[in-house]
Amino acid sequence: MRPALRLFNTASLSVEEFKADGTVGMYCCGPTVYNYQHIGNMRTYIFEDILRRALKAAGFKVNHVVNITDVGHLTDDADSGDDKMEKGAEREGKTVWDIAQKYTNTFMQNIDALNIEHPEAFPRATDHIPEMIAMVQTLIDKGFTYTTDDGIYFDTAKFPDYVKFARLDPEQLMAGARIDMGEKHSNTDFALWKFSPKDKKRAMEWDSPWGVGFPGWHIECSAMSLKYLSQPLDIHCGGADHIRIHHTNEIAQVEAATGKKFCRHWLHGEWLVMEKGEKMSKSKGLFVTLDVLKKEGINPLAYRLYCFSAHYRSPLKFSWTGIESAAQSYASLKKQVASSAAKTDSDLSSTRIDEVLTAFWAAVNDDLNMPRALAAIWDMLKDGSITADEKRAALKIADTILALDLLKVEAADSVTEKISSGGSKVVFTGSKEFSDEHVTRVLSIVDARKAAKLEKNWAESDRLRDELVAMGVIAKDMKDGSTECVLK
Ligand SMILES: [Zn+2]
Repeated sequence: MRPALRLFNTASLSVEEFKADGTVGMYCCGPTVYNYQHIGNMRTYIFEDILRRALKAAGFKVNHVVNITDVGHLTDDADSGDDKMEKGAEREGKTVWDIAQKYTNTFMQNIDALNIEHPEAFPRATDHIPEMIAMVQTLIDKGFTYTTDDGIYFDTAKFPDYVKFARLDPEQLMAGARIDMGEKHSNTDFALWKFSPKDKKRAMEWDSPWGVGFPGWHIECSAMSLKYLSQPLDIHCGGADHIRIHHTNEIAQVEAATGKKFCRHWLHGEWLVMEKGEKMSKSKGLFVTLDVLKKEGINPLAYRLYCFSAHYRSPLKFSWTGIESAAQSYASLKKQVASSAAKTDSDLSSTRIDEVLTAFWAAVNDDLNMPRALAAIWDMLKDGSITADEKRAALKIADTILALDLLKVEAADSVTEKISSGGSKVVFTGSKEFSDEHVTRVLSIVDARKAAKLEKNWAESDRLRDELVAMGVIAKDMKDGSTECVLK
């Protein structure tokens, strides 16, 4: 028996049974495409992917929307600072449109590498300016705004529920008003539409009934979510840092504009923090991307596995030792699957499979408890009383959530052993197929390198190692005297 799916709701601060009629409308705040996404950003998309997969496994149909923010919103939430897109363009000597395309592409590559399923829609902000203008107009007509020299602002004083969602302390808000607010009436008021500077043409700007300019960040998400999903949305997700400002502002403007509840169920993923406890962020220069991990030889799916080591509502500490041990765990998990699970599919059901999967689903459906779900899989792999066929059958189902390619035998996992003519054992691993001729050449270099080492001819042994590198082979001397050759 699979328990009902229970999910934490930021709106109620409690874990609730998730219910929906028909298709689940789910909106997740997407990337601002002015730079690479760091792996902390990707942690949020992995958590949302688990949620999507868990919903589908629970029998729901999902209509999932992730926006691409390709409009330059400003570098801080307070509607000031520089334009991120324009800064990116300046940095790289490209147009803002090229920057948006480049980083949209790398985002797509990242999600594919992490086995994150694509949502049903990926709307771009720049394709939805008319919808944003329409929502701002409604807010103007209903009296929720005021105009300053630099833009049209949402007047949070007109929306008494403003403090509710993030449990903001109204008195603290007033204390915050000491900061320079420009012409804003209150610290919490936010821009719906910003006017372009009078003396400068911006790289991205649009005409509006109120003057040339560009939309505020919050209005983008609200206009796009309501275009693709029906109100109230069933689920809205994002990083925990969005609760206080971005999502609070979204609720205010949508509920003010429509007079209806915006969203039923809110989920937020916690941060990936650096060892010192700081949030990974671009602005602080603490910036690790998936490409950086790949250059260190870490499989993106090992990072996916790393994310399962903490619950999505707990901060996850990033350290190089931690990620390297996750890479080892991933390799060991794949190895255990390869050695203990059956190699071919057989339709099978048994009490043992049911027991394993009951533990697995109990964890997944208990607010996406991935550390516990994964523990059920490790326990099963270690259990000698469960047959190889049973393990394969259970893994096939578990991997619909884990998406770690557990049963996929890739070239990277194929291991071939050869004995060289000099008698050395050489283990070939890696993602590339080599011709017999190539393999023979590698074997003879390995022999020659061993001989050079015996003679303490380090220059020659280094030269031979470089020759292997030039052939795309990384050679490692193993403790048992064998040589491992990774083909790249
Ligand atoms: Zn958003």
